[in-house]
Amino acid sequence: MSIAPAAPRASLPSTPTDYASLIGGNRVGAAGHVSIERRNPAHGVVVSRYPQATARDVAAAVEAARKAADSRVWSGMPGAERARIIARVAQLIDRDRAGLGLIESLEVGKPIGLIDREIGGSVALWEYAATLARHTYGDSYDQLGAQTMALVLRQPVGVVGMITPWNYPLLIVSQKLPFALAVGCCAVVKPSELTSGTALRLADILIEAGVPPGVVNIVAGYGNDTGRAITEHPALDMISFTGSTRVGREIGRLGGEALKKVSLELGGKSAHIVCADADLDAAAEKVVLGFTRNAGQACVSGSRLLVERSVATRFTEAVIAHAKALKVGDPLDPQTQMGPLVSEAQRDRVTGYITAGSDAGAKGWSREAGPEAALPGHFVQPTVFTEVAPSMSIAQEEIFGPVLCVMPFDSVAEAVGIANGTIYGLAAGIWTRDLDKAFLFGRSLKAGTIEVNTFLAGAPELPLTGHGQSGVGHEKGRYAIEEFTELKTIQLQFGSAPL
Ligand code: NDP
Repeated sequence: MSIAPAAPRASLPSTPTDYASLIGGNRVGAAGHVSIERRNPAHGVVVSRYPQATARDVAAAVEAARKAADSRVWSGMPGAERARIIARVAQLIDRDRAGLGLIESLEVGKPIGLIDREIGGSVALWEYAATLARHTYGDSYDQLGAQTMALVLRQPVGVVGMITPWNYPLLIVSQKLPFALAVGCCAVVKPSELTSGTALRLADILIEAGVPPGVVNIVAGYGNDTGRAITEHPALDMISFTGSTRVGREIGRLGGEALKKVSLELGGKSAHIVCADADLDAAAEKVVLGFTRNAGQACVSGSRLLVERSVATRFTEAVIAHAKALKVGDPLDPQTQMGPLVSEAQRDRVTGYITAGSDAGAKGWSREAGPEAALPGHFVQPTVFTEVAPSMSIAQEEIFGPVLCVMPFDSVAEAVGIANGTIYGLAAGIWTRDLDKAFLFGRSLKAGTIEVNTFLAGAPELPLTGHGQSGVGHEKGRYAIEEFTELKTIQLQFGSAPL
């Protein structure tokens, strides 16, 4: 895992930063609002305060977006102009990347030395989405008969409610918002109340880049009131949600009742499959990255290791050696590779799973705590379970922490059976030098993203899509155009005037 060599040590702010919502082009600050206080998950210090959206704020945000959509101020703008504004947002995120990175380090607990690459990922998404604003087009039909012609237009779906989780705050907003904007949609965005800072800071950037008032509205609040109010609002045309399968199911139900378009990016239990012929050193390093990046709080986390039995013991030892060497600690130290979990509730959930694994008979190894034990934060050490049965809860359910379950296999068919044996289907990693095997796995695995001899690589061009209960619909890539548009057919009947 490489660390930006020149990253300086960051320090805790002496006072929290106050943020404001963005509603109809206006910043709505703390006055008249309850503040949501965010404590840094490593030090327990309040670092951010967001104004909790009231019912009136949500109504105003939806009304502003609706008005902007109906006026066609954004969708009626030439694609080239929209592209310029979206590309400008990318430049401004790039300009402000150090500040945005610090916000996410303070609010999520992400290591400061690793965050720059992630903010760079957001820049790349906005850059790529800008190109799609000039490539949103439909079809034409000229073979329907001598006097008939038809056009199939792709029109923006309208106003999209976007609800995002706490684990990759700016990145996940950037997987949705620029793509929706590219095709001409307007939006109401609700980030997680735990980590709203970068989404609210993005509001300043959108204004500076020239996004017209009302096109994007960003409000902070809790899921079960603000999130729910957005989901149920009749004036929204679509909900684009990223989060847990549990909440996704509820949002799908509400969207179905209201006959709204719904796109869901949900949880995962991704398998890393390592064959005996693989480059085992490279694989061991990526397997550790796969389950400890962001302290394991990633939807695509490689939380199950399926390893060919002939190398299972040796490979597991190599994984443990890498995990032992990880620098777990203060996220503000540029040398840190893994920080704390995002909250006390998340820590309790993960440690609950670790206890359940041991109780079920799996054999656990955990890294010994270092100086980070002196911090008050929600640290959980990287943990590797062997002697895991595929039916155990630790092998079936999304833990969302730095916990790896190792299961040996003897054949491709057995590995595929174990890998496909959960409700999820988000991602998988395959390590082999045998192309036949790689394709066989690639074809058979139930997963929307499969990486061979790499892990967590990704690119804005490539879609993110969940199979099984990992999601409905897809994000990123040119396929995002389909998500945020709907078709309209215009059929023309000509008169019989001679040519
Ligand atoms: P949650 O599902 O708990 O929350 C996601 C968002 O939904 C938050 O903004 C939350 O607000 C809001 N919310 C909660 N309840 C409701 C409701 N009833 N109606 C509307 N909105 C609601 O997920 P987490 O934030 O805990 O994130 C972790 C989950 O996200 C994991 O399962 C992970 O796999 C998944 N995820 C999936 C990704 C993918 O691309 N497939 C990417 C990243 C994460 P609040 O925070 O206030 O509760």
